[in-house]
Amino acid sequence: HVKERGRSDFRFYQRQMNIGLLSRMKLDHAMRQALEHDSFRLHYQPLIDLASGQVIGAEALLRWNDKDMGEISPAQFIPIAEETGVIVAIGNWVMASAIKQAAKWNQGNQVLRVSINVSALQFQQSDFVENLAMALQEAGLAPDRIELELTESILVRDANEALRVLESLAKLGVKMAIDDFGTGYSSLSYLKRFPISKLKIDRSFVQHLPDDESDVAIVTAIASLGHALKLKVIAEGVETEEQRAFLQTLGCDELQGFLYSPALTPAEFESTYLFPPQEKLQSS
Ligand code: C2E
Ligand code: MG
Ligand code: MG
Ligand code: MG
Repeated sequence: HVKERGRSDFRFYQRQMNIGLLSRMKLDHAMRQALEHDSFRLHYQPLIDLASGQVIGAEALLRWNDKDMGEISPAQFIPIAEETGVIVAIGNWVMASAIKQAAKWNQGNQVLRVSINVSALQFQQSDFVENLAMALQEAGLAPDRIELELTESILVRDANEALRVLESLAKLGVKMAIDDFGTGYSSLSYLKRFPISKLKIDRSFVQHLPDDESDVAIVTAIASLGHALKLKVIAEGVETEEQRAFLQTLGCDELQGFLYSPALTPAEFESTYLFPPQEKLQSS
């Protein structure tokens, strides 16, 4: 029994190591090839308005299925893409692709805000705002249908420069959220200065709710801080009904997590949330 388990643990460990042992150069090359061959995909995870239970947004999450290496998690390849710099090209692809998708999903009177993850190096490019504005214009999408998810690390590196970029983004009309809030080096003074509209509570604080007393204290404090600053508060990684109920007592505005849905392909997202087959039948 024990022997069996040890063996499968070892296999798991080995499989994880494979990507870890690949050289930066090989992965960088593979990522550039993936861009060239258009083999990255975006999946979309619904964001649920807690009060109404309605899907009000979708977070674009990068997926990469390499023909030799198989499915590689963004948690693994994004950090390497940041190190080698290829994240800038990947990020531009993500931005253009998510904006095109959002344009398709915001036709007529349908409103669905699409959240896009932005990496530090991408945010630091001098043409970041210009690129974004151009992509929005090309797709004919209203800027407020996009929300950028920025991590605290983006904002602390050079706070004055970050503030300048955030202000031009706000002027453009896009929404901004702080992702994985509470895990980075936050300075509360940023929250006051930055024109952001939402805090995303990191999954690590949500995971052990409502049993873990420290997490209860942290999540309660983040929700009350966010609301006092007139920011929306969303919790990510919501997996259970108990977590949902607890977050509701805090007046959390939005929820995201496997309790509702994992990230879906665009076709799955559409048939589940946007153009369900019944509605089509009824309207014809
Ligand atoms: P994130 O932005 O915090 O995204 C949330 C992650 O949590 C996603 O993982 C999502 O699939 C996962 N998740 C959502 N709900 C649950 C849940 O209930 N339980 C569990 N266990 N997990 C849940 P994913 O897609 O593997 O992405 C990991 C990270 O990679 C993202 O964290 C983000 O930091 C980064 N990432 C993904 N796509 C992009 C991208 O297009 N650009 C950049 N720069 N980073 C990206
Ligand atoms: Mg995110
Ligand atoms: Mg997040
Ligand atoms: Mg997270």
